[in-house]
Amino acid sequence: MDFYEQLKEDLRKLDDSGLLITIRTLESAQGAWININGKKVLNMCSNNYLGLANNERLKEAAINAVKSWGVGPGAVRTIAGTMKIHDELEEKLAEFKKVEATLVVQSGFNANQAVIPTITNEEDGILSDELNHASIIDGVRLSKAKRYIWKHKDLNSLEEQLAKAQKDNCRRKLIITDGVFSMDGDIAPLPGIVKLAKKYDALVMVDDAHGEGVLGENGRGVADHFNLTDEVDIEIGTLSKAFGVVGGFIAGKKVLIDYLKQQARPFLFSSSLSPAETAAALEATKTLYESNELVKKLWDNAKYFQGKIKEIGYDIGVTETPITPVMIYDEKKTKEFSSKLYEEGIFASSIVYPTVPKGKARIRVMISALHSKEDLDFALNKFEKIGKSFGIL
Ligand code: PMP
Repeated sequence: MDFYEQLKEDLRKLDDSGLLITIRTLESAQGAWININGKKVLNMCSNNYLGLANNERLKEAAINAVKSWGVGPGAVRTIAGTMKIHDELEEKLAEFKKVEATLVVQSGFNANQAVIPTITNEEDGILSDELNHASIIDGVRLSKAKRYIWKHKDLNSLEEQLAKAQKDNCRRKLIITDGVFSMDGDIAPLPGIVKLAKKYDALVMVDDAHGEGVLGENGRGVADHFNLTDEVDIEIGTLSKAFGVVGGFIAGKKVLIDYLKQQARPFLFSSSLSPAETAAALEATKTLYESNELVKKLWDNAKYFQGKIKEIGYDIGVTETPITPVMIYDEKKTKEFSSKLYEEGIFASSIVYPTVPKGKARIRVMISALHSKEDLDFALNKFEKIGKSFGIL
């Protein structure tokens, strides 16, 4: 079969099995309400936790940066692509995260690729939670280290794997976990992980893409939430979710950052963030640093919505964060539910197998500080109405 025919055939198969992704095009900026196909819908699926993606202060900073610095960085950072605002962003992020240094790269995805294969080789062992994010999985695949996968959040399973890695005489043992797991909204058992890391002389790395701007003092993240900043060796952050912009960063000791600047391939071989993105991310960091008002609003909204949706009769699983999985269980019903929500003016994604296990399909509602009580009530009414009509409630 011709190559393009094969691709067509594979796409057809995806469609037949209900796995073809529908990509909707927004006709407005990110916000509580957005326009899609001329229709105004309540946005309940973005990671714009604090509403900073269309924030005036950030936009102003980006516009000014374009005026001063232009639109492109011109080169990779090691050649001629590091501008003063890149350094300023890294310094402010380090101050915010209460660490010695940070390194900003193009995305959270790249931050994992920048760290994992760079600090491990065939002499080492990587211990990864089975539900870690795809960018961690790919980072691990890029590394030559041995792999030890432990059961989700199961400290006994982690200890078993650490013991194996010790028996295998691994030089470095790198434990990696998501801070907040993006499909269920549950939080990594960091205190237990840190304890085991000490016992087995392992390093701890946390990808806090969904914890940054959400957990801890002013949204400093999961390590701060548990008061364990000094015990976590490497924190990965994204600037694309709560920070409202785009980009990723690595936070830790200065010597780690110095090493990554010499060795990490996404840093060495891919250009830096644009001036507009950098300035906007710097302004986002300052905004978080100065006030916890948005973080508080996010949590007020999450508690309100989660309390009410449970009262209505829905199961929202084990979430401990504003990520709200409304469990429908059945794949087909979940997709139909999401379409019905859309018809009724709510944009909320259905998450089905293989992203989550079979029979665990859900509508993942992402709460934002931008939502008003009226917005949340509007959504709650629709969830109740559709749930009844589907015979779920
Ligand atoms: N890590 C985790 C845990 C994530 O959820 C995501 C975003 N889906 C990323 C990394 C990637 O972040 P970015 O979008 O900045 O590449």
